[in-house]
Amino acid sequence: MVNERRTTKELLELDRQYVWHPFTPMKAWMEKKDPLIIARGQDEFLFDTDGRQYIDAVSSLWCNIHGHHVPELDQAVRDQLDQVAHSTLLGLCNIPSIELAARLIDIAPRGLQKVFFSDNGSTAVEVACKMAYQFWANQGQPGKSRFLAFSGAYHGDTLGAVSVGGIPAFHQVYAPLCFPVDRVDPPQLAPFAGLNAATESAAASGPVMPWEQQMESLILANPGVYAGIVIEPVVQGAGGMIMHPPGTLKRLRQLADRHNLLLICDEVMTGFGRTGLMFACDHDQICPELLCLSKGLTGGYMPLGATLTTGRCFDAFYGAPQAEKTFNPVHTYTGRPLACAVGIASLDLFASHNLLEHSRAMGRLLWEEISVLQNHDHIGDLRQVGLTAAIDIVKNCRTGERYPWQWRVGGALCNRMRDAGILMRPLGDVLVIMPPLAIRAQNVKSIARAVVECIDNGLDDIVSEREAK
Ligand code: PLP
Repeated sequence: MVNERRTTKELLELDRQYVWHPFTPMKAWMEKKDPLIIARGQDEFLFDTDGRQYIDAVSSLWCNIHGHHVPELDQAVRDQLDQVAHSTLLGLCNIPSIELAARLIDIAPRGLQKVFFSDNGSTAVEVACKMAYQFWANQGQPGKSRFLAFSGAYHGDTLGAVSVGGIPAFHQVYAPLCFPVDRVDPPQLAPFAGLNAATESAAASGPVMPWEQQMESLILANPGVYAGIVIEPVVQGAGGMIMHPPGTLKRLRQLADRHNLLLICDEVMTGFGRTGLMFACDHDQICPELLCLSKGLTGGYMPLGATLTTGRCFDAFYGAPQAEKTFNPVHTYTGRPLACAVGIASLDLFASHNLLEHSRAMGRLLWEEISVLQNHDHIGDLRQVGLTAAIDIVKNCRTGERYPWQWRVGGALCNRMRDAGILMRPLGDVLVIMPPLAIRAQNVKSIARAVVECIDNGLDDIVSEREAK
């Protein structure tokens, strides 16, 4: 029995009958023999309805920071529930949103001054795009309506966020519904590189890079057209954990400054310590005009989005109602007190547990452990920043040839990891290791050793099975 009422089998039947899972071919889901039903969590572990324990090596989709069932976070929710769960920010203030906004400005890149709350990561980006457009429109330049972005970008699933996203497999189908965006290929970190010492700021000098040249050419060819540049700084997550070389952000900042464009940094995934520093922007010590946050903002407990912006941006919206400069988007749960309260408690834990330093130490340990894969015939690349690691599985490491995507080799390896008590999700054939920042050393080792074991001893079996079909 799971709880007083339903068994695992009964719950699964109900799931199949009623729940439509995201990003999931539902026919395959219906045929899947043993989907897991998560019943509870504790620290870096999740437990299924049959009591089996798994390390949450995907941080519950890249958002969990301190682990599960954390006493301080649970208490913050309970305390806020004793006051009020929700009241609107439309025409009213609430205590936790005021306090969280002040705390965010205190830790964010210097220059950011205002916080606009929304519900999730997609809405944080959606808000940023609208703000960037209206920033120019409010100043008599409505023609500045296009954005520049990197290919392989992911910014969420609302239509504005899909427009600035650039992963054909995710986004192509919605292209007719989207606004146009101009893209260039992103720069890539050298193969087999880890950015674990990532506190030193890289110089932005040196020869002009191809991506810079391409962006600059587009800007020069289309004067007065671009509102801004939208990027995922340092790591492009869903696109395959594409990591940028140090200094890229400085160059982007300089490019935006040269052409008077707004720089929008989507730190929905990278924010709150994922790359070893509080924000990815801190690696190059730059300040964007707009910074999008979500996921780790509440430690992974509740949906909440925030778009932080500069005084310059805010001022473009500042005026009497008759001036019609107001920024209109509003979401019902914007600045939700319950979510903001847990966000404040999460920031307290960063400080009291020295979490950034801990996560960097765990990142170094992870890198040490997975580095044995460097000379493996089927590893095309190994890259890592902070406690975010990506392992690129290929058919041939010399040519970079991949397995047919239909073989879903990455998925099959993750199924084996699950059998070993570790939950991971691949991005195609890129294995991603991204545990809660508070994970303990023995569990970092367990993940790394299981991954190495699965690749060493499971990959050939998976490939032979596929070849035989
Ligand atoms: N931006 C980035 C960089 C993301 O990785 C994600 C989600 O993975 C989002 C935006 C969208 O966030 P949400 O799923 O909360 O809408």
